Amino acid sequence: MNAESLIKGWCPGALRPMESGDGLLVRLRMTGGIVSALNAQIIAEAARQYGNGLIDLSGRANLQIRGVSGSQWPHLIADLSRHGLLDDDAEAEAVRNVIASPLAGLDPSAHLDIRPIVKALEHRLASNRALHRLPGKFGFSVDDGGRFSLSEQMADVAFEATMESGKPVFEVRIGNHETVGRIDANDLCDTASTLALAFIEASEVADLPYKRMVNLVSAFGANEIFKRARIERLLVRSKRVTEKASFGYHKLGDSGFLGLGAPFGRLSANGLAALADFALKSGSGELRLTPWRAILLPGLNRSTAEALIGRVGESFITHANDPRLQIAACTGKPSCRNATVNTHHDALGFAQLDWLTKRSGTRLHVSGCEKGCAHPAATEAVLVGRNGLYDLVLNGKASDGAIKSGLDAAMARRALEEIWAGEVN
Ligand code: SF4
Repeated sequence: MNAESLIKGWCPGALRPMESGDGLLVRLRMTGGIVSALNAQIIAEAARQYGNGLIDLSGRANLQIRGVSGSQWPHLIADLSRHGLLDDDAEAEAVRNVIASPLAGLDPSAHLDIRPIVKALEHRLASNRALHRLPGKFGFSVDDGGRFSLSEQMADVAFEATMESGKPVFEVRIGNHETVGRIDANDLCDTASTLALAFIEASEVADLPYKRMVNLVSAFGANEIFKRARIERLLVRSKRVTEKASFGYHKLGDSGFLGLGAPFGRLSANGLAALADFALKSGSGELRLTPWRAILLPGLNRSTAEALIGRVGESFITHANDPRLQIAACTGKPSCRNATVNTHHDALGFAQLDWLTKRSGTRLHVSGCEKGCAHPAATEAVLVGRNGLYDLVLNGKASDGAIKSGLDAAMARRALEEIWAGEVN
């Protein structure tokens, strides 16, 4: 591992990990968010053997092994490589930023099976070195038009399937703009490359390089960028919104799937191994990762799903009313060096508060510092770590002015109880 690997804040991978408060963070980009149960077992074992036994499920449906020491990292890489879980090099790994519909190939309401398209897109990104000049966070999404829309996920180039004259096509949205291009399904990889290269070329001659497609769209307009990419079929489209609550058991075709949320995006290696074992014995042998930090286990009937819920119990979120869903908590201490408070531990305590069940949406943000990584938008209450204690901000962001300071977790809980006292009963 070279010095570059240790630059703080680097968009991490496995071959170029990021140093964090609890050691190296090793991110595994799983194609289409699909993990075979066998690979999940391998990853769980690797997290136990080389890391601290904790795994993040990221907002881009990647798995992150935490707490790997510099001396263990080469052994972890050798192990993952032996099982075919790594890219050829760090650049190819970094550019494979693709989110896909989590039930791809299984969802009867989808317009087509996008799995081969997603695989081909990732292959194109990894193999075309010209595309390796994309910024680290530049990402794509491929939505099959089925049960779960990806429209709320941040993507620089978003593809969504729809039907035209009885055959599936893709609408292309760039930088969140309402104008979309319409392309044949077979043209997705070429279109993605052309738009990405247009971004790179414009960015490299700009005074300040563009960071995201939204910046390029602001500068030139979506129509001009589509024109450069020779996309002519343009339409104005509002985003498709669908349900996102995938927790618990749901029918899917002839069987069903179980959705299990990872509280605050974190699960244990043992928890992942338990899901993998169950998927092998009673499910389809696959785990599907979602960008809303849940794992879907397809191929289950209701009674087997209920048996699994009984086993994994509190470790996962199994219904949409779980109060942990109303709290955004960053990784905190000890995982982040900026944090002086154990956000996950304290957030679990705040999740016991009755008022969390009274309304929906993110109501409380527990932030390790004023950077507010877990929830950039305002919330009703924000607890912001400072010198091992919390500041309390109301109706604002982590960086806004506090109404109270110097609260330990118990004091913070009482302050929240007082504020929301009127809502209970
Ligand atoms: S908000 Fe602060 S403490 Fe939390 S993850 Fe971000 S930088 Fe770290």
